[in-house]
Amino acid sequence: MVRKIALTLLSAALAAWCAAGGNHDAKTVLGNVSRAMGADNLKSIQYSGSGADFSLGQAMNPTSAWPRFTDKTYTRTIDFDKQASELQRVRVQGENPPRGGGGQPLVGEQNQNQVVIFNDNTPWVQRLDLILLPWGFLRAASAAPDTTVKSEKVNGKKFTVVSFMGQNKAPVSAFIDDQNMIERVETKIDNAVLGDTPYEGIYSGYRDFNGVKFPTSIVQKQGGYPVLELTVTDVRPNVEANIQPPQGRGRGGAGGPGGPGNQTAEAPTEKLGEGVYLILGGYAAVAVEFNNYIAVVEGPQSEQRALAIIQATKKLIPNKPIRYVVNTHNHFDHASGLRTFVAEGATVITHQINKPYYEKVWANPHTLVPDKMAQAKAKPKFETMTENKLLTDGNQVLELYHVQGSTHNDGMIMAYLPKEKVLIEADEFNPPAQVATAPPANINPYNANLAANIDRLKLDVDRIIPIHYPNDSRKVAKSELNMAIGKAN
Ligand SMILES: [Zn+2]
Repeated sequence: MVRKIALTLLSAALAAWCAAGGNHDAKTVLGNVSRAMGADNLKSIQYSGSGADFSLGQAMNPTSAWPRFTDKTYTRTIDFDKQASELQRVRVQGENPPRGGGGQPLVGEQNQNQVVIFNDNTPWVQRLDLILLPWGFLRAASAAPDTTVKSEKVNGKKFTVVSFMGQNKAPVSAFIDDQNMIERVETKIDNAVLGDTPYEGIYSGYRDFNGVKFPTSIVQKQGGYPVLELTVTDVRPNVEANIQPPQGRGRGGAGGPGGPGNQTAEAPTEKLGEGVYLILGGYAAVAVEFNNYIAVVEGPQSEQRALAIIQATKKLIPNKPIRYVVNTHNHFDHASGLRTFVAEGATVITHQINKPYYEKVWANPHTLVPDKMAQAKAKPKFETMTENKLLTDGNQVLELYHVQGSTHNDGMIMAYLPKEKVLIEADEFNPPAQVATAPPANINPYNANLAANIDRLKLDVDRIIPIHYPNDSRKVAKSELNMAIGKAN
């Protein structure tokens, strides 16, 4: 008995010693890096330069990178003690001519001022915005209880890799070179389309700025493509940060799947015709009843939004299966609910260019946030189209058309209900907050192209259902599109 206790004590002591030893290694490495980078007494920093940002999930087609916006100026101030960040930048159109989403075409200069005050309730993905930076990593890794150190060779180069477990249960790792500079910080985050998604910051060209070693090149990537490319020209350590909390809502990048419409309240609906229903309360969707099944146009935003649309559809049209979900295009804000429809048993109708893409990315692991499709191990079914497709039971009719010449997305589909004279479209015409009384100074080429497609197909349109439905929930008449393209009504 005594021996057993002694052994237990010894192993406990050993375990404690190992833990302390492991921790000691991490502390030593982090201390060395902090000293080498001049971060020991860094309370705040301001860095500025120019470069580009890119809209995740808003590509022109499934094989192109995220679309680019030029950042003419970029100044970021971080107060490490107060856990606050302010980003001021001037953005201009980076794709010329405009190609893809994310709020294109950007007319003139867009001044952005994004302030984030971080606390324990700040979503992990947003906190990573600081933690992925070398100085943010040093602080987070030093505070983490489970930081580990190992050596790793990447492409023949030896790195010391320091890791700790992120709040989302994905490790956050920094790759430290033999000069004690952090070359890369990487982790994974959940994405409703891409599943477990690599998110990394790559830092190179370190230079001394007033006693602080700072990278002159910062590249951040998400899902394999850059989301930020920055050339740093000025760095000011320990500036008087004085970051004020944002007034009202900040203006972030457009088109993220976490946008408005994630509420759980019952979705408001409107009957558009016999067996045709508009579902609001987020991105718009339209449920169309056929003899033996239901087709839903759009599975947008998130699993939560898709579940709200499915719930509303089943209430409006009981006892019929949702056989089809029509996907207007592959931008993430329009595709982030599709997997939920797949789990529901629906076949995805999409442009043929998207099928190999969805098959590939939907096979990615969803371990960070297992969604319904992952849980059910559901296998996706597709029906693809190129120029047009007709869904009908002899009575109900839903016509689908490829939007030719779209510079928003190569595989863009719009839907037309001939009986109701209703056109359902995404991102080709996002109506203004209020009905315009005069044509805009600059005609949006996406709007003009939509009108040209309506003319080409000789569609008799009275009303437009924009997937980005206006906040006042008004009925959008075709005349609004005419006004937007400067055509007299
Ligand atoms: Zn789009």
